[in-house]
Amino acid sequence: MNILVLNCGSSSLKYQLINMDDESVLAKGLVERIGIEGSRLTHKPSGKDVYTEQRDMPDHNVAVKAVLNVLIDEKYGVIKDASEIAAIGHRVLHGGKYYSDSIAVNEDVKRVIRECFDLGPLHNPANLIGIEACEAAMPEMPNVAVFDTAFGGSMEPKAYLYAIPREYYEKYSVRRYGFHGTSHSFVSKETIKFAGLNKNNSKVIVAHLGNGASISAVVNGKCVDTSMGLTPLEGLIMGTRSGDIDPAIVEFVANKENLTIGEMINILNKKSGVYGMSNGISSDFRDLKAAMDKGDKLAIETIQAYTYRVAKYIGAYTAAMNGVDAITFTAGVGENSPYIRTMVCEYLGYLGLKIDEDINNNAKGMFDLSAEGSKVKVLVIPTNEELAIARETMQVLGL
Ligand code: AMP
Repeated sequence: MNILVLNCGSSSLKYQLINMDDESVLAKGLVERIGIEGSRLTHKPSGKDVYTEQRDMPDHNVAVKAVLNVLIDEKYGVIKDASEIAAIGHRVLHGGKYYSDSIAVNEDVKRVIRECFDLGPLHNPANLIGIEACEAAMPEMPNVAVFDTAFGGSMEPKAYLYAIPREYYEKYSVRRYGFHGTSHSFVSKETIKFAGLNKNNSKVIVAHLGNGASISAVVNGKCVDTSMGLTPLEGLIMGTRSGDIDPAIVEFVANKENLTIGEMINILNKKSGVYGMSNGISSDFRDLKAAMDKGDKLAIETIQAYTYRVAKYIGAYTAAMNGVDAITFTAGVGENSPYIRTMVCEYLGYLGLKIDEDINNNAKGMFDLSAEGSKVKVLVIPTNEELAIARETMQVLGL
């Protein structure tokens, strides 16, 4: 059975067609510059040549049709016709306070996605357009919305409430939601399986360290806390996002630099993080590592601050859960940067945690890098959000 996974941005559409019998990727691809001159489809069918198509695609309806056409194309396609797709799983950014699980799309679900436009102004409108484009192209096809905020829906008020006037929560639903939920859910489940934990008696921390970064505390398979907040800006230091700061910095710097609040928030999202801290060396850890290895002081300070922040959150979440059985690193940096894992774990000796540097430096894919006798398992588990969405889609539809 095949599931199509779609992730629509305002001018882009990423897709994967997954054969769920063996969870293999049949094809994946990307449509870029939708609605902008120079639209382009790049299609990568498994075992066949890459296909690119350059023609104007004025909206997501045209882009969805182009994807369907190439999936059934005689030369570059991977299925004979659209009836070989059982369902479509859509990544949706924000489900607000309404959804703590994935759900089959109906008019109510679409209304909620619309209601959450102001919580996810860049993503939710595009996500809804993608769903409606699929409904128009394939009216009989079931669509499932998989929300990035859903995993955080199990948090208790003590974890999700901010210490601001209660009326802002009541009137505007201002609270912690958390993001990267699909990844945290997938990786925490895989951690329980891989570490051989009893799901109903398990305490797991997942550090999703990518260009965006967040960390979650998961007790018995449920998220009890996570570092991103009302928006993805809070928490860890990221590629270009600041993570936690004193909110008074916004007014202070805005006054000094004659900036609006909107301009300041843009700086905190796009010009900060390791990119800003290193005075623009890079948001990419490969460049920062190269600079650190040459002794660049700013790169060294930046990476030290980055790993210190991750370690502080691990300490906080260990306290929140009154213990931890396994800590898992995932996403671009978490999976590929042994020195980042070492620098974080250096803070965690008090937990009786020890890592095996040989495994840490040399192992690939999914692995356990805890040393013999470590009281806490330390793992690397590659995240796979598309597969997570496909699995959720099957589960919601009972397929
Ligand atoms: P993600 O958002 O999960 O795709 O992660 C992207 C980030 O992961 C990049 O900005 C890099 O900093 C980092 N990254 C990706 N691949 C590698 C690699 N092979 N070695 C070190 N860092 C990597």
